Amino acid sequence: MTLSPAEFEVAQLGERTVASPLSDTRFVAESDRVLFRDDLASLRSALENGVAPLSFELAGPRERIFFDPANVKCAIVTCGGLCPGLNDAVRAIVIGLRDKYGVDDVLGLRFGFEGLVESYGHKPVQLTRQRVGWIQERGGTVLGTSRGAQPATDMVDTLERLGIDVLFAVGGDGTLKGAHEVALEIRRRNLSIGVIGVPKTIDNDISFVETSFGFETAVAAARNATQAAYVEASGHRNGIGLVKLMGRDSGFIAGFAALADTHVGMCLIPESPFSLDGVVRAVLSRIELDGHAVVIVAEGAGQDLLAASDQSDASGNVRYGDIGVFLKEQIPKLARSNGVDVSLKYIDPSYMIRSLPANTRDAAFCQLLGFAAVDAGMAGKTDIVVGLWRRRFTHVPIPLAVSTRKKVNVDGRLWQGVLSATGQPRDLR
Ligand code: ATP
Ligand code: MG
Repeated sequence: MTLSPAEFEVAQLGERTVASPLSDTRFVAESDRVLFRDDLASLRSALENGVAPLSFELAGPRERIFFDPANVKCAIVTCGGLCPGLNDAVRAIVIGLRDKYGVDDVLGLRFGFEGLVESYGHKPVQLTRQRVGWIQERGGTVLGTSRGAQPATDMVDTLERLGIDVLFAVGGDGTLKGAHEVALEIRRRNLSIGVIGVPKTIDNDISFVETSFGFETAVAAARNATQAAYVEASGHRNGIGLVKLMGRDSGFIAGFAALADTHVGMCLIPESPFSLDGVVRAVLSRIELDGHAVVIVAEGAGQDLLAASDQSDASGNVRYGDIGVFLKEQIPKLARSNGVDVSLKYIDPSYMIRSLPANTRDAAFCQLLGFAAVDAGMAGKTDIVVGLWRRRFTHVPIPLAVSTRKKVNVDGRLWQGVLSATGQPRDLR
């Protein structure tokens, strides 16, 4: 992938002329950046060719900001599927705006992008300190969410009508694409409204963002499912415990869950193709070895084995076939035709995981991410998503963040680790 420094350039609404109300803070200079690639060869090649090495602008408070906190109105929207930490992110943005910057007009838009379209009639709510006080204890999103495309023109009409200066959009790749459309329409109308994305993806599949919130909680909760699968599998003759985990296009949750539980003997992800024969062969040899087998499958894995779907959800995402149910039905059938009578127990914990409140680490992460989003918004940054890169918070232009989807590198450390930990054959085709 060839990338240019221009793709890392962050858009700014205008000159920052207002003194920041923050005191006792280490301000971040506009020139503070973190390298995109940190290997010596890349750095050397950039310097030898006389080009600036690729780097991200650092997030954090600016000494001079664009918006006057006394006269700024902000809105927050949460979109897409549920993910642990949504309420933490909302709360962090509210607290960051109100307590750090002294902003006193913060609206919550209801039910995703629908909340930005007047004809739905969803009334915005004022997000006071009291209103968000305990929301982090609950799963889901207190603002509600939705899928489904909404016209950017209608959404910007609403921003204008409500007098919003900064829109914070918490969501995944679809939300970020929607937020970018909004930013483009704002630019077309020559308005000074900032659009700041906060990356929500339980699958951790947003490019140029090392970690998104909810992922850590999901992996921890997946462990309960793999442990239950192990108990079931080991308690039956030729037992198989099959667990389906989230991961539409990227197998990060499945991979980390396999690493985290040594009982897992096989992990199937979208990035590594397999055949039913290959899987059954490997499962049977695992049973021969241990007497039982625990298998994790990511929801988007093995889609080539299922009938192609022509259906999509309201947001236009293609509905995937259910690989979990397919394997649950097919593995015992094929094993039996190989003369082995297996007992398979199937666990699909997806909705139970999505609806959990964030765990400690995700909660702390959301807090910092929310504050970084507020700093970016007040500084007048726009069309960006706040990210994490080499443990530094960054500003990533939305077009860059949605340009590709982050995938598990099958030659990389995670997948090689999974192969060693599970002992499964490299090639299951
Ligand atoms: P997740 O997939 O993790 O649940 P997401 O943000 O990708 O989160 P989606 O339902 O795909 O969830 O999208 C959220 C919102 O963004 C929806 O209202 C959807 O219509 C809108 N959206 C999705 N893709 C686009 C796009 N290409 N352009 C404009 N809006 C989009
Ligand atoms: Mg998505």
